[in-house]
Amino acid sequence: MNLCNPRVIRELMVEAGIKFRRDLGQNFLVDPSVPEAIADVAAFDPDEVLLEIGPGIGCLTAELAERYRKVVAVEIDRGLIPVLQKTLADYDNVTVVNADCMEIDLAAVLSEAMGGGSPGADFPVSVAANLPYYITTPILLRLLECGVRFSRITVMVQKEVADRLAAAPGSRDYGAITAVLGYYGTVTRHFTVSPGSFLPPPAVSSAVVSIDLYPEPAYRPLSEKTFFDTVHAAFEQRRKTLVNALSARFSDLGKERIAEIVTSCGHPADVRGERLSTGDFVSLSDALFRAKNDG
Ligand code: SAM
Repeated sequence: MNLCNPRVIRELMVEAGIKFRRDLGQNFLVDPSVPEAIADVAAFDPDEVLLEIGPGIGCLTAELAERYRKVVAVEIDRGLIPVLQKTLADYDNVTVVNADCMEIDLAAVLSEAMGGGSPGADFPVSVAANLPYYITTPILLRLLECGVRFSRITVMVQKEVADRLAAAPGSRDYGAITAVLGYYGTVTRHFTVSPGSFLPPPAVSSAVVSIDLYPEPAYRPLSEKTFFDTVHAAFEQRRKTLVNALSARFSDLGKERIAEIVTSCGHPADVRGERLSTGDFVSLSDALFRAKNDG
């Protein structure tokens, strides 16, 4: 069955009595070279388990199942489950779970699908997804914060979002999410995909990015909370200097003390947040944490 053929997709959906759900970001791939290319870069070796978010009718799922030991696919739309049972019937290494990836315990789902063990520790797990665009950043943050040490997270997202995720410090696209991703791993931007590769076509172009997670934490801030607070405060009002932006969040320290801390970390007093790398934010948050706690 050619799962990237628009006629096949429509027939499967008519048979199941379902329609495309715009509210769930359902734009299915119809260019077979795209799921193949995503599956090729999705993990380091064939022995990995792949978690797929939003399999749709299963075109990427099938490519992953061909290449990797096991695929666990989490799909929110109950109407697609009988379709997936049919399209993936030939694969005995796929488990489909009908759930909202924002709600379920991903570690427990992966462990159960593998018959036990701790994902990321007892067996390597990577993530692959053509993400629903209405919820890209929350899903990414959930994956990073869910406690499973994934090896690699490969996602297709809106092109503008991909540019932001992979931006270098100081560039126009660099933002809080870029600095946060840098805390967890290194980002690679792969290729751009045009709207015509989807059914129905979205309004915007897309691109594929991977995040290779650090096997051990690369940064150890004194307080993770202060690190995330510092990053978010720095980008809350982009036109403000870093000192002004931080003065709003860390008001108990006072603007003068914050200016001293920023310059003692080696930055000019009028620096803006987008100039700081993840490592710079860790050092700055440590200095702010010390100042808050030492009085
Ligand atoms: N993987 C398919 C493809 O590439 O053709 C479909 C990708 S489509 C852009 C996004 C998929 O994510 C849809 O199947 C949608 O129903 C599903 N989805 C949306 N929100 C979800 C959520 N919170 N949890 C799990 N799946 C979700």
